[in-house]
Amino acid sequence: ASQTLQDTLLSAIRTIPDYPKPGILFRDITTLLGNARAFRRAVDELVHPYAGAKVDKVAGIEARGFILGGAIAHQLSSGFVPIRKKGKLPHDTVRVAYSLEYGIDEMEMHKDAVMPGEKVILVDDLIATGGTAEGAVKLLNQMGAEIVAACFVIDLPDLGGRAKLEALGVDVHTLIAFE
Ligand code: AMP
Repeated sequence: ASQTLQDTLLSAIRTIPDYPKPGILFRDITTLLGNARAFRRAVDELVHPYAGAKVDKVAGIEARGFILGGAIAHQLSSGFVPIRKKGKLPHDTVRVAYSLEYGIDEMEMHKDAVMPGEKVILVDDLIATGGTAEGAVKLLNQMGAEIVAACFVIDLPDLGGRAKLEALGVDVHTLIAFE
């Protein structure tokens, strides 16, 4: 019998308790990436709603969003745009501060990476509080991008990230939720 998407993802995602600190259940997708069937399935499911959407660019959030985003961009025949921690991109950038659990950090995108009106899909592995994705949405909005959707393999709905993005008018697409 063919496995359901939920079974495939549940058995391919590894949970590491107390990483990177006590009380956190770290959802580790390296096991999913290393499983050819599960990796293809996850990418196929993330791409599916946008197959006919004429997406210009996929914007991936460093670092796990690069891996998924590259595969998604290839499948959609779109370009790929990296959104990186500050100081990593070599050319002129736009920069935004975003909130982490403790304090803030900054992320950047090249100024010429997205043109006004281009259709963009934002990608990361997981959405928790939504602080990271919210920062990326601000950068894309600043460049005049049309955000088609924000896609994540994993949603932690209790932390409110999906609701935060939806309140900004962004469609959110996720494959599996963990309490
Ligand atoms: P947030 O900004 O709170 O939505 O956090 C999302 C970012 O932190 C993503 O880039 C995730 O990869 C990472 N992250 C947050 N919580 C977890 C978790 N429980 N397991 C794995 N990654 C996480």
